[in-house]
Amino acid sequence: MDGKNTLLNAIRVGMGYDSHRIETGGSMILGGVVIEQGRHFVGHSDADVLLHAITDAVLSGAGLPDIGQIFPNDRPENRGRDSAEMLRLAMANVRQAGWDLVNLDCVVLLESPKLSPIKSELVRRISDILEVGPTLVGLKGKTGEGVGEVGRGELAVVHAVALLHRT
Ligand code: MG
Repeated sequence: MDGKNTLLNAIRVGMGYDSHRIETGGSMILGGVVIEQGRHFVGHSDADVLLHAITDAVLSGAGLPDIGQIFPNDRPENRGRDSAEMLRLAMANVRQAGWDLVNLDCVVLLESPKLSPIKSELVRRISDILEVGPTLVGLKGKTGEGVGEVGRGELAVVHAVALLHRT
C-alpha cells in the first residue's frame, strides 16, 4: 500500500463542508460571485460558504491543515477577508505539496436564490480561482423544500468533494 508508484498513492479524495447563517440586508457572496438578494451570509470573513467548503476539500485531499487552522477566525486580518483569495492561497499550498485537481463536485443547499440561472457564472468563477478548466467543477443546487433551517431560508449548507492526483 505504501509503494511510491501505485495508483492508490497517486490519488486522494478530500471532503469539505460548511454552513453559514443567513440574515437580512446586504448581499450574498457565493462562489466568489456577489448576489444582490437583500440578504447576506453571516461570518467572520466574507462568509462565502461555497468557497469555504471547496477550500477544505482541496486542503483535506492534500493532507494539509484545514481552513480554520490556516485562516483562524479570531485573527483581525481574516475579518471580512476575501474567500477567493483564501482559496487561491490554499490551492497554491496544495500544488506546492505535490497535488493537483482531478475534479471537484459541490452540492449547495440554499432555499433562494435558485442556483440554475447563475450556475454557469459560479462554475466559471470557481474554475478561474482554482486555475482549472470549468469541466472539472461540478455544482448542484438543492432547496430545503421549505423544511428545516435551510427550507426557512435561515441557513446555507455546502458539501464539496475534491479528487486530487499527485503531480
Ligand atoms: Mg465558513
